[in-house]
Amino acid sequence: MHCPFCGADDTKVIDSRLVAEGDSVRRRRECQTCGERYTTFETAELVMPRIVKSNGIREPFDENKLRRGMQRALEKRPVGIEAIDSSLNRIMHELRSTGERELPSRRVGEAVMRELRKMDGVAYVRFASVYRDFQDVSEFSEAIAKLADADPVEDPEQ
Ligand SMILES: [Zn+2]
Repeated sequence: MHCPFCGADDTKVIDSRLVAEGDSVRRRRECQTCGERYTTFETAELVMPRIVKSNGIREPFDENKLRRGMQRALEKRPVGIEAIDSSLNRIMHELRSTGERELPSRRVGEAVMRELRKMDGVAYVRFASVYRDFQDVSEFSEAIAKLADADPVEDPEQ
């Protein structure tokens, strides 16, 4: 790549190391013309597939919406934010690694159910009840929104 200082195209990598748990590579480069050093980061470009609703409408994958839905299902449950984040990462990894550019919303719903079941039985039941309701008639994203907006769900354990 061109030197950001002088524009010369002859730069040399002087150090290279893995960062962010191996998800990216940090490189120190030195310009052979002006001698300036700078750092570049290299990460894989991983694009989330678009979500195809059952009525055929495509929409971009919305991580925040998914997080809100899961948090809603996990409200007042003994599950920490880190567990939710790891779970969200697993779901996104799974969806990306299909290599598909588009996935049916059902696939997202199934992945969420599987993760919730591992984390917390009550959250799983909460989510599943909303999910099953909408499955025939409506959309996954609407179920997520419903979970995010719903009145507090009565805790079956109380
Ligand atoms: Zn330079």
